[in-house]
Parts: sequence; C-alpha cells; structure tokens
Amino acid sequence: MTAKVIDGKAFAAEVRAKVASHVTRLKEENGITPGLAVVLVGEDPASQVYVRSKGKQTVEVGMNSYEHKLDASTSEADLLALIDRLNKDVTVHGILVQLPLPKHLDSDLVINAIDPAKDVDGFHISNVGLLGTGQKSMVPCTPLGCLMMLRDHHGSLAGMDAVVLGRSNIVGKPMAQLLLGDSCTVTIAHSRTKDLADVCRRADIVVAAVGRPEMVPGDWIKPGATVIDVGINRIERDGKTVLVGDVDYASAAAVAGAITPVPGGVGPMTIACLLANTLTACCRANGLAEPEGLTA
Ligand code: NDP
Repeated sequence: MTAKVIDGKAFAAEVRAKVASHVTRLKEENGITPGLAVVLVGEDPASQVYVRSKGKQTVEVGMNSYEHKLDASTSEADLLALIDRLNKDVTVHGILVQLPLPKHLDSDLVINAIDPAKDVDGFHISNVGLLGTGQKSMVPCTPLGCLMMLRDHHGSLAGMDAVVLGRSNIVGKPMAQLLLGDSCTVTIAHSRTKDLADVCRRADIVVAAVGRPEMVPGDWIKPGATVIDVGINRIERDGKTVLVGDVDYASAAAVAGAITPVPGGVGPMTIACLLANTLTACCRANGLAEPEGLTA
C-alpha cells in the first residue's frame, strides 16, 4: 500500500482563506478587525523567523498584527506590565508570547498572566482545564491543526484506536484530550513506555511528537493506519541540512493509509490555526457566532 499524502500546506491555505473571508465579513457587517499581538523577548533566530511569519500571515488574512519586540534583558515586571496593557486593549483579541523565553523569566507565570480569552496559544492553565473537562476553550494550535486534518480525512474519529507519542503540554497532552473528545480510545506513550513498537502497531491513528528524527519506522505502523508527524528536526544528510519528522517517512508511507509529510504537513497548519484561534477569540469577545469548522 502507498499512503495518501495529507497535504498540510494546501489544507492550511484553505483554513487561511476561510479565516480571511470571515474577517472580511466581520469588517463589513460589524466594523471589527481582529487583532493579534505577538510578544518576542530576545533575539533567538528561530523565534524571530516564526514571529515574522506569524505577522505576515496575520496581515494577509486581513487582521491587525501588533509586534512587541523586547530586549533579552527585559525584566519580568516589564513583560507583565506589557501583557496587562494588551489584556486591557480592546483592539487586541489574541496575545501570543513566543516561547522559549530567556531563562530569567518564568514562562508559566507569564503565560498565566494572559487573559485566558485572549490566550490564542491555549497554554493558560484555565484553557488547559477547560479542554481537559470538555468545555469551550482556546485550543493549542498544533494539536488543533492535527485534529482538523484527521477529521477532514476520516470524518468521524469515534471508536478509533489512537496512540500519541509524546506527553508535552504543548502537543502530546492536548492532542490526547482532543482525540478523546472525538471519542477515540487514546494511549499516550512517552520515553518510559514499554514495548513502544507493539503499542504503535495497535493504532488506527499515530500522532508522533517526540522530537527524535525518524524514530518511528514503517514496521511500527499498522497497515492502513493514519500517521500524523508533528516532528520538526534538522539533520545533516549528504552534506546538507534537511528537515525530517519523527517518523521514517519512506518506510511508513509504504504501510500507512495516510500520512503527513515533513515539511508540508503539520507545520503550516500551526500558524493557520493561530489565525483561526484569533478569529474565534474576536468573535467570542464581541458576542458573535463563531466560525464553523475552525475550532475543536
Ligand atoms: P518535548 O521535548 O517537549 O516532548 C517530547 C516528548 O517525547 C516527551 O513526552 C518525551 O517523553 C517523548 N519522547 C522522547 N523520546 C522518546 C522516545 N525515545 N520514546 C518515546 N517517547 C519519547 O517536545 P514537543 O512536544 O515540544 O515537540 C515534539 C516535536 O514536535 C519536536 O520535533 C518539535 O520540534 C515538534 N513541534 C512541531 C510543531 C509544529 O508546528 N509542527 C509545534 C511544536 C512542536 P518524556 O516525557 O518521558 O520525556
């Protein structure tokens, strides 16, 4: 079997187009323009690239983008004061603090200072609790993107066996909650899991988020299963730096029913879902109907 390739780049473009048309309607019918504030502390090169890309795509869908670039030595008090101002600013519907923060800043404290209604990354403890109890929340962007692709491919996920590899707060745990919310039977695997290969082989859906290049080989995949590869790993191959996932694509694609490539799979969906979350936050803040198909 050769797997169907789930094209995250094309799907992300569809999501952005939906967001853009909803934004146009919001402006025309309600005189509201959604706004996303992104806060970057320091000069981490990867973070700078992400923030630039987020800002560009925010503007492309017709939203306002507010970038706050702070010095690496910014104090916690100054950062919290900025977040407080953004929380109170009615033109800002989404606030994202780019992680990782410099070591002298307490990430949990900073993230939990964001108004949960504006927490478009879905990392605030209130949103974590709401998601965990099946209530309306802001959902972390990467798992939301994975869920959208799975729903698009399968329709209903009810009754499917899903294995999530990785238990991080930003990917693994929320992914598992979302799959449970869609009535999958969910196993969360991690570095202490025994017989990982056997655990994976039982799964109709494998979501790999371990941060280990090509760790999951094709013979861990049940024939016909759907494989969502969250991993983004830079490795040297044939003298070049290449991007690979957590799944060994060639061997897994030969067995799976469907698979996301790296690059061009989960990655593009993450920013698309950030825009979707900002739109959702804006609609909720203004008591308007939420866009369909863009939330969990
Ligand atoms: P973390 O490092 O926070 O978590 C990795 C998880 O994988 C941990 O739970 C760890 O287990 C588990 N793990 C590590 N090694 C093994 C192993 N040998 N066997 C089983 N489990 C293992 O990573 P993130 O969740 O932040 O990210 C995971 C990957 O996803 C990375 O490649 C990252 O770059 C990528 N990513 C991609 C995004 C996108 O937009 N596409 C967004 C965010 C992340 P334990 O808890 O026991 O240590």
